[in-house]
Amino acid sequence: MVPVILVAGSANLDLTVAVPHIVRPGETVIGGDTVTAPGGKGANQAVAAGRAGGRVTFLGALGRDAAGQTLLSSLQEVGVDTACVQLVDAPTGAAYISVTPEGENAITVSSGANAHLLPEHLPDLTPFTHLLLQLETPPETVSAFAQAGHAAGLSVVLNAAPARPLDEQLLRHVSVLVVNEGELQTLAGEEGGTEAQAARLRARGPQTVVVTLGAQGCLAQTAGSTIRLPAFRVEVTDTTGAGDTFVGVLAAWLSQGAPLEGALQAATVGAALACTQPGAQPGMPTRAAILAHLT
Ligand code: ATP
Repeated sequence: MVPVILVAGSANLDLTVAVPHIVRPGETVIGGDTVTAPGGKGANQAVAAGRAGGRVTFLGALGRDAAGQTLLSSLQEVGVDTACVQLVDAPTGAAYISVTPEGENAITVSSGANAHLLPEHLPDLTPFTHLLLQLETPPETVSAFAQAGHAAGLSVVLNAAPARPLDEQLLRHVSVLVVNEGELQTLAGEEGGTEAQAARLRARGPQTVVVTLGAQGCLAQTAGSTIRLPAFRVEVTDTTGAGDTFVGVLAAWLSQGAPLEGALQAATVGAALACTQPGAQPGMPTRAAILAHLT
């Protein structure tokens, strides 16, 4: 099957260790065993879209090391095409995560190979209808990809995470912008409620702005209408990866021609199901699991 969604972004190996407390400057703490898991917003969203039935190609940069091989396998296992992945002379990206018994965490990200994803790595866009981007790769690369995607007539979906100010030109190349509440504040300022903030953002270019609201669901603004959906109620085990699952499922459904509201419903169910399982990628639901809960 020919992929139609190009997900371009980061891939990291997440290394998590339980600690009694977050280490202070100059201190050494003894933690538990290291738990490794594939991560990075780009790879997570590619896996979420792939498990949700999307036909996905992942474009990212990995090191020529064991971590890179682990990340490649995690993408290939869910049917994501990795032919565009760039192997570069830098270590694969890693996130060092300490978690306390109270659930407090401290994270150090080593971008490594992700910093080597360059505008010239973009493949021929002819086969693709959707380009999904996040902000964990170099800003110039994200902007160049969005510009090329827009020029080629693709629907450019940008998950503006992690939060940082964006240049106005980038926003004009985005069709669907997805942000959480913190990212919304960074991009639209604190004035007014969520709807007013989303409207201000939409006026800067994107046809649709989607705001995820955690356990409160989501809100979307598009031409002439506002859609509000409550969260799908589940027994929550771990919300890690909820945001990435939401974005990946949204892109999968949109790429199959679903109307916005239907795609948001699927994303809401998918993200909630991801909250019922520990970890990011292992908890991402299949298309069948999402369909089983859609009315
Ligand atoms: P994260 O960084 O934790 O992955 P995020 O901050 O990017 O998430 P959120 O707005 O917290 O994004 O969550 C994304 C979506 O996941 C929400 O719009 C909602 O549909 C779903 N979700 C999050 N928390 C819950 C929850 N407790 N119960 C059900 N669904 C949830």
